[in-house]
Amino acid sequence: MAHFTCEVVYRGIFQKNLASRICRGIVFSARKAGRWGIAFGRYGDSPQRNGIPAKDFAIVADSQEELEQNMARYEPQEVDVTICVDDTLAKGVESWAWYGLQPINRLTLPGGTVLMTSLQPAEDLLKDIHKKEAAYTLALVRAKASFSGLWVYREDHTEARVLGALARIKPDFLSLDAVCQAIKDAEWGSEVKVASARKAHERLETRPVNITEGNAETPFSFEKPKWWEMREGVSIPAIPVGKPMEGGKGYVPERNPYFKKFTTRTMRPVIDFDKCVKCTLCWLQCPDSCFNVTPDGLYDADMEACCGCGVCEAVCPAKECITMVSEAAFDDNASQWEAWRKDKDRYRAWLAAKVSDKAHVARSHGFRFRGQYAQELKQDLDTGGMEITTGIPGENADRKTP
Ligand code: SF4
Ligand code: SF4
Repeated sequence: MAHFTCEVVYRGIFQKNLASRICRGIVFSARKAGRWGIAFGRYGDSPQRNGIPAKDFAIVADSQEELEQNMARYEPQEVDVTICVDDTLAKGVESWAWYGLQPINRLTLPGGTVLMTSLQPAEDLLKDIHKKEAAYTLALVRAKASFSGLWVYREDHTEARVLGALARIKPDFLSLDAVCQAIKDAEWGSEVKVASARKAHERLETRPVNITEGNAETPFSFEKPKWWEMREGVSIPAIPVGKPMEGGKGYVPERNPYFKKFTTRTMRPVIDFDKCVKCTLCWLQCPDSCFNVTPDGLYDADMEACCGCGVCEAVCPAKECITMVSEAAFDDNASQWEAWRKDKDRYRAWLAAKVSDKAHVARSHGFRFRGQYAQELKQDLDTGGMEITTGIPGENADRKTP
């Protein structure tokens, strides 16, 4: 009797179809290998929200009885493999209706595997992935994050590559032949995705991670209110009025202290304060009241509140004033305005490096302009699928004030 459990950690909406296809693929592959399997989503992640981390699970067992025994649990508390389909989730996961920041490897069993799609070196990822009190393996499928919308699915073979990689990690449960047969059946006999699965199986990079490696920071956590501290009835307190920033000047809006948005983010705004015309549009339009009004009348986005939606970049009328850059390019949530105020030349050099850094995937949420998919696909194919494509930076530049 043996079973194998895995979780797929994904970005709500943008990767919903990808995650369910991976889990379904695991179950179909298990059936081809003569085993039993089931796939399900976590209730706590519904309703899904754009970019908010969410989880699907798949369990494979030798017998139907053993599968049912595992299904009786509300949610797996430990998994053999954590599959992470966006490497910015390496910084941690705080899903819908969840509490505090969970390390991406929190459920990974000692000796288990974190399988991630990423173009970053393992050492860079380990700067973000929290330390664990047990050794595990980091396995990398070399690919950029696959994003699409709620009803569409991006046919870039990510699910086939992940399944091929999984067959290398857990060959006793999912043989490569079983995975290939399952893909072929699901794809009406097409060999193209089967070839992708085989390539990923062959090219998978693995690296042992010992207990001294990883981000040493304590994940964000807080005390849950006790039942006797809760108010009677159903009451939702209004957000209090904000306060001045410093010396009675500026303005800091109040935000929900229990729901930090930064784990939702795959991109963040980088602001060129020298180009700001103080129009207030970013402040007005930000759906999460992220912007602090600084004493000198500029707008500084709080990186603990920002969900990375990109609205500020879209509404800002000043050319190249706000640019969305991959979250993978940043190591902290420090104030950009403070850095600019302290040393303007240094900030300008930092900003120029971030905005032009093609080594970090400049990404977008799904499809933001007509023809984007075709454009990115062409660039991928021309460069063997490895080149990083720019999507958003400068997208609206032609419509802005120089
Ligand atoms: S990306 Fe911009 S608009 Fe969106 S939450 Fe962050 S600061 Fe606000
Ligand atoms: S939208 Fe752009 S120009 Fe307007 S206040 Fe914000 S950063 Fe400045």
